[in-house]
Amino acid sequence: MSQDSKPSKAAPGAIAEPSNFLRQIIDHDLASGAFNQRTDLANLPIPSIITRFPPEPNGYLHIGHAKSICLNFGLAADYNVLPGGARCNMRLDDTNPVKEDIEYADSILDAVKWLGFSWGDHLYHASDYFDRLYEFAEILIQNGKAYVDSQSADDIHANRGNFGQAGKNSPYRARTPEENLTLFREMRDGKFQDGEHVLRLKIDMAHPNIVMRDPVVYRIRHTAHHRTGSKWCIYPLYDYTHCISDALENVSHSICTLEFENNRPLYDWIVSSLRELGIFKNPVPHQYEFARLNLTYTITSKRKLLQLVEENHVEGWDDPRLPTIVGIRRRGYTPESIRLFCERIGVSKADSWIDMSTLEQALRDDLEARAPRATAVLKPLKLVIENFDGATSEPCSAPRHPQHPEWGNREFNFTRELWIEADDFMKEPIKGFFRLYPPIGDQPGGRVRLRHGFVIECTGFESDASGNIIQVNATHFPDSKSGTAGSNNYKVKGNIHWVSAAEAIPAEVRIYDHLFADPHPDSGDKNFLDAINPNSKKIITAYLEPCMKDAKAEDRFQFERHGYFVADQSDSKPGKPVFNRSVGLKDSWK
Ligand code: ATP
Ligand code: MG
Repeated sequence: MSQDSKPSKAAPGAIAEPSNFLRQIIDHDLASGAFNQRTDLANLPIPSIITRFPPEPNGYLHIGHAKSICLNFGLAADYNVLPGGARCNMRLDDTNPVKEDIEYADSILDAVKWLGFSWGDHLYHASDYFDRLYEFAEILIQNGKAYVDSQSADDIHANRGNFGQAGKNSPYRARTPEENLTLFREMRDGKFQDGEHVLRLKIDMAHPNIVMRDPVVYRIRHTAHHRTGSKWCIYPLYDYTHCISDALENVSHSICTLEFENNRPLYDWIVSSLRELGIFKNPVPHQYEFARLNLTYTITSKRKLLQLVEENHVEGWDDPRLPTIVGIRRRGYTPESIRLFCERIGVSKADSWIDMSTLEQALRDDLEARAPRATAVLKPLKLVIENFDGATSEPCSAPRHPQHPEWGNREFNFTRELWIEADDFMKEPIKGFFRLYPPIGDQPGGRVRLRHGFVIECTGFESDASGNIIQVNATHFPDSKSGTAGSNNYKVKGNIHWVSAAEAIPAEVRIYDHLFADPHPDSGDKNFLDAINPNSKKIITAYLEPCMKDAKAEDRFQFERHGYFVADQSDSKPGKPVFNRSVGLKDSWK
């Protein structure tokens, strides 16, 4: 774990948050005065600090994106208390017409909102900048900083050279600005087929950084775009679009993951070229890189997530075993727990792995104080109280939450036939087993307290023809009821949960585990599909206490002794709840 950052609310004028390197950079920039009283290109005042979250709408967001969302929106919220103000823009980086989709764009906005962040009026689409991007490309051409290359894609690739070997200039590199402008306009006007020409920046084919060897910034693609329709048949590439979008939105700190470090000189080249040409003004945006989140026992590659969904290794983008935001939401994670997780893992410049247990612990820490308690028997075994009249019942109650008496009590009945966990009985008890077992010789049977009910003593059990235990018998002590004066006279070591067979609600419960059995399923040259855990989903029928009948979708509970469970958002129906196990009470995965 990198810098552990405990949340604390910063007082105006001082950022009390523990420092990460990005805060240090921003603090330094603010102290320099260069970000005071900034104005946009139309000379209107803008916040000192502007960050942005710029996903490409080509897939569903995952827990790695949550780190970037919490970082960008979190910095904006923290610095917004300072005089110059701050904000975070939401930008859909939708310049690739082929892979993008409205469905993805909608799900991205939903995910950011669900995590608790808001962009106000500042939702942008990179495709809104197509006109400006084109206009700037013409300006770069006119100033000899870009040219139309007519080599094949293969030749462009081959002539780029490689590490330690300079590239070769294109034979088209010496075209005049007039020639380039004519060709570029014809490209735009649809005179050419895909791949016939590209627009490249004229930087340096011998540059030690290959990214700087005359990067391609526009290509022909006769494909409609989901927002601009068939208006364009040339589309700008990421490196060109991204920095210009940042500059047009007056972003001050453009934060991205480490794999873009090599692209930073190109980012600076484009932005400063356009600044020198009088289009942008200081302070221009700067790019800063941080280490992406790598989480054990899962994968955070959009391409591999897509493969898991398309090849039906999981049941859709919101499968509770996936690290997608929709998946972890359906699993029962709360926005608060994910923000807590992101605070705890901090931000650093060094790549590392975060253990899945850190994410799970954040959920427990969030839900411990908030989730009402309830009883569920997951592996039911019948218990018969021999000295309790089958025609009657005894009302019992338990607090909804031990620390929240104001939430009141749950009411349920003690009856002759109950369900208990099969694991709470042993025919031949091992040493140290303090729950239910039959009398042996002159030793009495096991004695336990049925939580919020009576103390009982086991008198025997019944098994079927194949030896499976099908019923446990016991007697209860009528003066031992929890909460009555007599209950203190009974000292027992075991304390088990139960539900009345007469009023239990049978419910489907889905017990989820890690999707992969390997902590690093896609490292090295492993095929991540080989590491899929065949036992990642088990469906059981459990018996729930009566109050669970009315559980609403996304209601969360701590099932006592078991862990945290959520009513499934799609499949749970009033009167017929379906629960997902979000996380156990303890980290049991070793
Ligand atoms: P692609 O391969 O499709 O580009 P991507 O995961 O980079 O996938 P983007 O939509 O480009 O997806 O990501 C949006 C933002 O989220 C980027 O700024 C990116 O740096 C950040 N991001 C993506 N994955 C992670 C991760 N695992 N940890 C932290 N930030 C991430
Ligand atoms: Mg990306």
